[in-house]
Order: sequence, then C-alpha cells, then structure tokens
Amino acid sequence: MSEFADWHNDEMLKKVKEALEAHKFLVELCENCEDAREKALQELDKKSSIGIGGSMTVREIGLFDHLKDNGYNIINPYVPDLSSEQVFDLRRKTLMSDLFLAGCNAVTLEGEVVNVDGYGNRVAAVIFGPEKVFLFAGMNKIVLDRQQALDRIFDIAAPINAKRLSRKTPCAVTGLCSDCDSPERICNHLTVNMRQNIPDRITIFLIKENLGF
Ligand code: SF4
Repeated sequence: MSEFADWHNDEMLKKVKEALEAHKFLVELCENCEDAREKALQELDKKSSIGIGGSMTVREIGLFDHLKDNGYNIINPYVPDLSSEQVFDLRRKTLMSDLFLAGCNAVTLEGEVVNVDGYGNRVAAVIFGPEKVFLFAGMNKIVLDRQQALDRIFDIAAPINAKRLSRKTPCAVTGLCSDCDSPERICNHLTVNMRQNIPDRITIFLIKENLGF
C-alpha cells in the first residue's frame, strides 16, 4: 500500500473512532487480522458462553477457528448439516450468550453501525441480550453516512452474500439489488445502531485491511 493510501486509511480510522466513541461504543484500532484476533482473545475466556453471529470477517481474521479449536464455549449455529430446528434453537441461545461476536455491514463516519439481516438474530443480539458484543469491520465497511451504508449493503454486500449462500434471488444472478419479493430474500431487517446506552457493552474492532463483503 502506498504511504498516501495508508495515510488516508489512518485518517478515516481516526475519524470513525472519534465518532463511535462519542456515541459510547468502545473502539479498538487494529493494524491487521492478527492484531484484531489477538486483541479480541485478550478479552475472552473459556468459561463464558460465546455466541457466533454471521460474519466472514470473524472467520477471515482466524478468530472463529481459534475458538473452535481451543476449547472455548461457543454457541455456533453454523455447524454444517444441522437441521433447521437446531439452527433456530442455537440462534435463540446466542441471544443470551455472555459475549456475542459478529461482523457489520457498514460503519459510518457519523458514528453509527448499519446492518441488514435475513433472520434478524444478528441484529437482535447486537441490540439487546448478550452482556458484551464484539463487532469486527475492515476498512471496506467504513462509509460516510447512512445513505452510503445502504448503498454499500444493497449494491455490494447483499448480492455477494446471496450468491455465497446460493439463494434464488435476482441479485445472485445479476449482481444488482432489485428489492425482490423472492421467498429466499436475505434482506429483511435493517438496523442502525445509533448509540450504545450501556457503557462498555459494544466494542468495535476496526481493522486496517479489506475484509468480508
Ligand atoms: S432485496 Fe433481494 S435482490 Fe435485493 S439484495 Fe436483498 S435478496 Fe438481493
């Protein structure tokens, strides 16, 4: 990366950190995936229940595999071959976990977190339930404001996720959102976390790399 692009990343991270902290979110700035993983692990223990929310970023930084392979008490609805009843039950249990881990679709320079969910379990847990929440976001998730957040979600994140999940939606064919009526639509719950009123509850790990979608 050129020194100028690096400078721009640092400026954006500084600004978004200030804005999020003004809204009572905790923020950890992370140089790279390893840094993010290590900073998160410093706060985790093997006794607490750890709910896993949907996130490519948690996987890409190696945190999910580390927890899975090292005896942490995870509640994981993403185990392959679970029945839909088992997935539903595990998703409900994550809502009462001690700590919930997830990614975000967009973080704005105005200090807000914007997400769209299919079932709503991720956004529900971020709003209320788990005692602590760790959210992970790469540089590519930082946008100017709510409008840009929606643009990135519907122009980029949702079509890629629909394709990844093999959903029968128009966007998984065209790459473009048509605000579909598909039964397999993945965009059902839109949330903006404007502020956090419980101090120290939500920590956002901002990572100086492009991660997830
Ligand atoms: S609303 Fe439908 S077409 Fe648009 S991104 Fe979501 S699933 Fe795709």
